[in-house]
Amino acid sequence: MKRTKIQEILLCEDFGKEVTVKGWVRTHRDSKVVHFIALNDGSTIKNVQVVADTDKFDEGLFKQITTGACLSVTGKLTQSPGAGQASEISAETIEVLGQCPSDYPMQKKGQSFEYMRQHGHLRLRTNTFGAVMRIRHNMAIAIHQYFHEHGFFYFHTPLITASDCEGAGQMFQVTTKNLYDLKKDKDGKIDYSDDFFGKMTSLTVSGQLEGELGATALGAIYTFGPTFRAENSNTPRHLSEFWMIEPEVAFIDLQDLMDLEEDFIKYCVRWALEHCQDDLEFLNKMIDKTLLQRLNGVLKETFVRLTYTEGIKILEEAVAKGHKFEFPVSWGMDLASEHERYLVEEHFKKPVIMTDYPKEIKAFYMKINEDGKTVQGTDVLFPQIGEIIGGSVREENYDKLIGEIQSRNIPMKDMWWYLDTRKYGSCPHGGFGLGFERLILFVTGMQNIRDVIPFPRSPKNAEF
Ligand code: ATP
Ligand code: MN
Repeated sequence: MKRTKIQEILLCEDFGKEVTVKGWVRTHRDSKVVHFIALNDGSTIKNVQVVADTDKFDEGLFKQITTGACLSVTGKLTQSPGAGQASEISAETIEVLGQCPSDYPMQKKGQSFEYMRQHGHLRLRTNTFGAVMRIRHNMAIAIHQYFHEHGFFYFHTPLITASDCEGAGQMFQVTTKNLYDLKKDKDGKIDYSDDFFGKMTSLTVSGQLEGELGATALGAIYTFGPTFRAENSNTPRHLSEFWMIEPEVAFIDLQDLMDLEEDFIKYCVRWALEHCQDDLEFLNKMIDKTLLQRLNGVLKETFVRLTYTEGIKILEEAVAKGHKFEFPVSWGMDLASEHERYLVEEHFKKPVIMTDYPKEIKAFYMKINEDGKTVQGTDVLFPQIGEIIGGSVREENYDKLIGEIQSRNIPMKDMWWYLDTRKYGSCPHGGFGLGFERLILFVTGMQNIRDVIPFPRSPKNAEF
């Protein structure tokens, strides 16, 4: 008999109907006359209760029904007398598809997240990781839906690249060279001409530069794919392999860009509240009691928009009033996470979009303001997360862009194709990058970015 997903079973009121469910045992307890088995198949956070009469099955079978075992159960759908559940299954046949011995690592409840990471291959079977992964899926759908509805084309940029887009961190090299026998030239440099691509290549840190090629042809595109950064950032907000969403839009100015950022994030949060209710309620109960309140709060708030210069002023005032930061505050510095969090969590108590940064602390392609000192970058700063989006209006003026490339000693010969966007029919445009896992952190209330991706990659960690 074809199995029915538990999510569907729990909504079904066709009592008396014969159904088959398959899933993993969460709990098994018995009174003398009857056994209760909570079964979960991953389709929902909720379990279905299987009720099995003790005298209908032999004792050996019940012994195999341990936490984590995989069962196929056929029986009648019945209305549950227990509070809070609509239907349960009165078992007629039970087949043990996979036994689960008592050394099953996910057996005990309340294990630490560090323990879960060490058992990353099995942690997906827990309630928390099930909830997070279902929400992650729903957020991916929301993102595609948002851009599709708004006329953006899903655009695939390469993962292997010969350019270091923005020096966004160290890159992972891609090579088929024999590392045991590396030939070097007389200056001690590696000769890449006989490497697979005939030049030095790496995994991409961002799809933006190619995204700009797409936007200046198709009008509006977005990328959604993995990016790689070999930076040694051991923080709860950084991964070595993470997923990024990068929309890029022609004919957009800074105001439009900020509107897009705010509208997009709110759409995703609203989607989560509408499509992931059960999982969010579970996380709100078990992980973060303020989660639902915070998600609803974001929908109501208008994000604060302020310039870097105004932000520095607020931080300097805080220092004058006796607030202690680890890193001193002065115009021109890159904001540390403590500064971002002060603005968002203590001063404004809502999300902040900061703009117009000193050009020295931002990438070469950002549009230079008339003051010649600041650029039209926008970072969206979120409570508990810090930077969730980094974006900018791009410099579309050919000469100004070349000036920046030269003054930063970026090798021009690698950039010829990018410069052609400014040489031929240049247009105002801009875009941003959203770290997918940072969005998932916010939406789930989880504390560590390694716990919102199925198989995290971070320094010294590529297990599973
Ligand atoms: P941060 O200052 O937090 O390291 P960044 O300035 O390096 O971020 P960008 O290069 O602008 O970030 O990348 C765009 C977005 O990608 C960021 O706003 C963030 O959401 C996300 N992001 C950046 N680096 C990482 C990382 N190592 N792991 C996960 N997400 C990241
Ligand atoms: Mn970074």
